[in-house]
Amino acid sequence: MTEALVETIDLEKHFPLTPSLSDTLARREKRVIHAVDGVSLQVRHGETLGLIGESGSGKTTLGWVIARLHEPTRGRILFSGKDIAHLEGRELLAWRRQVQVVFQDPIGSLDPRMRVWQIVGEPLLAQGKLSRAELRAKVSEVLPTVGLPAGSIDLYPHEFSGGGRQRLSLARALSLRPKLIVLDEPTSALDVAVQAQILNRLVDLQSRFGFSYLMISHNVAAVRFVADRVAVMYLGKIAEAGPVRGVLERPLHPYTKALLAALPVPDARRRAMRYRVSGEVPTLINPPPGCRFAGRCPFVIDRCREEEPLLRVLPGIPDQWVACHRAEEVGEIPPEELLGEMPTLPGSPRSESGNSRPSESTVAG
Ligand code: SF4
Repeated sequence: MTEALVETIDLEKHFPLTPSLSDTLARREKRVIHAVDGVSLQVRHGETLGLIGESGSGKTTLGWVIARLHEPTRGRILFSGKDIAHLEGRELLAWRRQVQVVFQDPIGSLDPRMRVWQIVGEPLLAQGKLSRAELRAKVSEVLPTVGLPAGSIDLYPHEFSGGGRQRLSLARALSLRPKLIVLDEPTSALDVAVQAQILNRLVDLQSRFGFSYLMISHNVAAVRFVADRVAVMYLGKIAEAGPVRGVLERPLHPYTKALLAALPVPDARRRAMRYRVSGEVPTLINPPPGCRFAGRCPFVIDRCREEEPLLRVLPGIPDQWVACHRAEEVGEIPPEELLGEMPTLPGSPRSESGNSRPSESTVAG
């Protein structure tokens, strides 16, 4: 099956800011953070969709809105074809069986006063009445699937290592056999060796149980390992989306190229040559019209500041969606060239005014 399990259509999540006294007295326009701004994407049955981008790109907010941990401001969330964006009460509770979240920080997300059987059994209890013996039996069944001994059901979270605690979070998510698991930076709090174990476990569990993952991560290597498709977010919008091999090996959007070029490389000479994007990171508060990457993009032209680029496919690359007016030209630039100075295209300001840059900031990977 490859049809969509989840489909968002023009999904928005805006956070209104409380006006200050001076704002109120001056009757200034209300300020709103556009954390997710018109996102349309799909998570297919049994696949992993990776969601990457810098801090503040809106990727975590998007994941939380899809899991209904945040209320959407506008737009639709189709889950198996049914719009769940505004479910409430018992309907929402019943739907929650199908979606679970594994949070970034296993220490913060596990109650230190609860034992393993209570933590892992919590979602089961929320969905229906079970006796203590039934709950313990179900938890004992789940623990080995994530590599924890069934005999650990009476331990507390602090008695586990970081990797063990993340396995506990996974066990809790698995206990209801959901259709979708939102992985919110699942390995960022772990050391590298443990990260590899958790990623292998994620792949193994998916092949056994067939659920889908929405994997939110700033770790491109982890996403490359686990995901089938990837979406790149920048300031509340999807900049590029498509199969992992396409997007990460032949990126079409300048931001994706910058994101990949900023990944750590072992060679000091190559590191020194790393491409940097210039300019200030714009704010999500009342963002300007046009392309949101325009203030940092070396390929910017007047059209970019006036007209928002919409996601589209290029001729001959049917699965890869990109939101850039100049994707045809930019996409031709091989990624290895990005290790040096960012090449310029005719019409870009840098091609006319040299390479002077007022400020520089490396894109975080
Ligand atoms: S639309 Fe323009 S500013 Fe935006 S990424 Fe493409 S070239 Fe750069």
